[in-house]
Amino acid sequence: MLHYTGIAANGGIVIGPAYHYNRSLLVAEDRMLEPDEVAPQLEQFEYAVARSKGELEKISALAEHKAGKQGSAIFEAQSMMLADTYVLDTIRRRIRDEKKSAAFIVDSEYNIHQHFLQTSENPLLRERADDVEDIKQRLLRHLLEKQKWISKLDHPAIVVAEFMTPADAILFSRQELLGFATDGGGATSHVAILARSLGLPAIVGLRGAAAHIETNDILILDGDLGELFVTPDDDTLARYRERLMEIQSKKKIVAAKGKETEFPPETIDGKKIVVNMNMELISDEAIAEAESMSKIKSKPVRGLGLLRTEHFLSEYDEIPSETDQTRIYSDLANRFYPAPITIRTFDIGGDKFIGGGFREKNPFLGWRGIRISLDQPETHIEQLRAILRASARQNVKLLLPMITTVDELEKVMHYLDEAKQELRQNGEAFDENIPLGVMIEVPAAALHAPAFATRCDFLSIGTNDLTQYTLAVDRGNEFVAHLFDELHPAVLRLIAMSVRAAHARKKPVSLCGEMAGKPIALPFIIGMGIDEISVAPNRVQMISGLIRKLKYSETKLLVRKVLEESQTIPELKQTLFRFLHKRNLVEDFLTPVEIEMIEGYGK
Ligand code: PEP
Ligand code: MG
Repeated sequence: MLHYTGIAANGGIVIGPAYHYNRSLLVAEDRMLEPDEVAPQLEQFEYAVARSKGELEKISALAEHKAGKQGSAIFEAQSMMLADTYVLDTIRRRIRDEKKSAAFIVDSEYNIHQHFLQTSENPLLRERADDVEDIKQRLLRHLLEKQKWISKLDHPAIVVAEFMTPADAILFSRQELLGFATDGGGATSHVAILARSLGLPAIVGLRGAAAHIETNDILILDGDLGELFVTPDDDTLARYRERLMEIQSKKKIVAAKGKETEFPPETIDGKKIVVNMNMELISDEAIAEAESMSKIKSKPVRGLGLLRTEHFLSEYDEIPSETDQTRIYSDLANRFYPAPITIRTFDIGGDKFIGGGFREKNPFLGWRGIRISLDQPETHIEQLRAILRASARQNVKLLLPMITTVDELEKVMHYLDEAKQELRQNGEAFDENIPLGVMIEVPAAALHAPAFATRCDFLSIGTNDLTQYTLAVDRGNEFVAHLFDELHPAVLRLIAMSVRAAHARKKPVSLCGEMAGKPIALPFIIGMGIDEISVAPNRVQMISGLIRKLKYSETKLLVRKVLEESQTIPELKQTLFRFLHKRNLVEDFLTPVEIEMIEGYGK
């Protein structure tokens, strides 16, 4: 039995076979084609070349726009290599003569060229070998199509990978996925967030476990403790089977207790807090789950506090057309009506979909969110028009990610006016007063919150990024994951500043980072006077239940105490823990792991 400990990304225990997913290795199968497979393989090859050429053109134009001619030179060189008729004809001929798959021949042919370049005396030629590898990988990606790879998950399995993108997680979620375990990632990486919204047990940051796990190895994945057992021994299996049974019976009790009768949830002394939901998937199951959570006495009251539209890109493999976007947003707005839905414009970049093989050295500090939208105004306006159309029944809010400067906000306002004008001219219905909000997720935005609160209709605090950028800790990097903590006094001060700035201008504030779903942090959040929080659908009942057990007046005192007295994270957590403990809320709302960890600070 092997045993690994990583970062608990989402609770729950699952026992099942592994599926080892290796996203970096694209393997071309070596088998003889049936006679009727040759022509389709040749067609697929032409398709892969055309797609790759298109991608390279786009990247090259982008690189030129960003870094001038010099920046685009590599991609132009790759485009030229891809247009080399000698190589292309050789591949076509070999597919016909050898009757092997296009992927196999592409792999083999480009390997020959690569080997030739790698062994050259000329250093310039040796460098070109990397370009050949890039071209080969690009072609293979199109030839092997990720979906085909993934469709191998033909029975329930726990996916194990060195690294997974949010797009991988989404595609796997359509299969019989039991949970996942990755070597990379931190607790607020987007893969971990997706695990929570899918309600799947998951561990990230396992650092090197994947290499020791083969497909069909039996695993125990303990998402509560962040522990993974590979081919467990009988004792461990028996222990976990017993725990699974205990969890099942506890779940039934909680489900019976957890029925909600009121919205919005209210503290004992009458402060109402709206609890909405974050949503990133548009699968039928995800919508159905969110819809069922949105209803109280069969009336939709709870809406979406954050719709992460960028995840739709993995569905389409590129930015969906304006028509598709209009359909998706309008459908959601109608399904949740009269509850509001907050649609955030694409937050592409960072660890999320960027497409076309575009890579940056430091993506979280790079081309991300509103920066990309403002650099591509046509695409941005398309999205604004689609969101506006969905707002016709006045239950849509518009939210902007990664805002750092007032200038960015004003540019968006200008584009929004332009989009409204076009719809007016076409006689299309939309909400003239669609509320516009800014995400506070960069320290600059928090420090400058008064200026944003003056200009827009609401603020939404994104604690995942606010923590990452304030503490200089990459949220997706397992090596620094222990340093990532929303409960750092500096982060809490920035949140408090933002709330004060908004309320001074009578603008509401929402909090939609993962922190909103953490019971230990909730009294502090409530005490700051947050108007609305947004959490994963499966946290709604629990968080609403806790709100109803708190007194707003006491949480306000707690905030003062924390901000004035706590200097360190452990001190601060002890204070928050004692607050819950004194009110007998620890047992019901914190997991045993959280209790153990926080109690440890007091020793
Ligand atoms: C955040 O940063 O807290 C947030 C909600 O946005 P995302 O997690 O999508 O970056
Ligand atoms: Mg963010």
